[in-house]
Amino acid sequence: MILYKSASALKSYLEQQKSMGKTVGFVPTMGALHTGHISLIYSAKKNNGITVASVFVNPTQFNNPADFEKYPVTIEQDVNKLEAGGCDILFLPSKDEVYPSSLPTQTYKLGYLETILEGKYRPGHFQGVSQVIHRLLDIIRPNDLYLGQKDYQQCMVIKKLVEHTGLAVNVHIHPTVRERDGLAMSSRNLRLNKGERQQAVKIYEALSMVKKEIQPGDLKPLKNKAMMFLTENNFKVDYVEIADAATLELMDHWDGKRPLVMLTAAYLNEVRLIDNLVMD
Ligand code: AMP
Repeated sequence: MILYKSASALKSYLEQQKSMGKTVGFVPTMGALHTGHISLIYSAKKNNGITVASVFVNPTQFNNPADFEKYPVTIEQDVNKLEAGGCDILFLPSKDEVYPSSLPTQTYKLGYLETILEGKYRPGHFQGVSQVIHRLLDIIRPNDLYLGQKDYQQCMVIKKLVEHTGLAVNVHIHPTVRERDGLAMSSRNLRLNKGERQQAVKIYEALSMVKKEIQPGDLKPLKNKAMMFLTENNFKVDYVEIADAATLELMDHWDGKRPLVMLTAAYLNEVRLIDNLVMD
């Protein structure tokens, strides 16, 4: 695996490789890598001649400075995992490489998506996500971009960003990789103590209950039930919502036909966890 810290050096290397007919698959991450991230590397490797991963804890997407400061950093293990996963290139930029002073700050038109769920509870978060992904796509110019369904709303935001910027990249969404008990793998799980880790699976149980018990008609009682379940299990809940899987329109009533996604975000003490389940 080749390590690049310089955006311009990476850009010219990749341009050279592309001119020789290689396609580039890109997996953006914030590090503290786990099997969920590595599954994206495997997908990229399957489809592309060159697989690039980035590790950059993007300050502009953290609305809470304490969350940014406590974000886990495990770079040595990350390098080992990427190498073992067969990643070809790791882009490990400094903040100045990603955000040089010459780069104008853009505002992205994300519309409805920015007003609900993560957008509502983390103001500015998706502007920061759009900013960093736009910049990384501009440097790497991948043919394919690999994202995890774990961040459902983020996937929709990035698809919208790709549409708006007109960048020629195919977006692939990979299913959420879970621990054996069902907890979605997440870098933030590293911040859970033993007791919290055991409790954390309740978030998956709440979503599974909604998925199992959902019926056409009024959805509010079921959402309240899931909210109560999490509260009783020591979570401080931001939201439990049911939405149209294609548009993320929040729904209080279901016709029994529209494809749905159930989403939740909740704190276990200091650690904020998110998860979702799609109705198949
Ligand atoms: P992050 O490092 O949390 O910014 O995540 C980097 C990428 O990995 C994003 O596209 C995430 O959606 C994806 N990802 C994170 N956790 C998982 C998981 N458990 N399964 C699949 N993809 C994931």
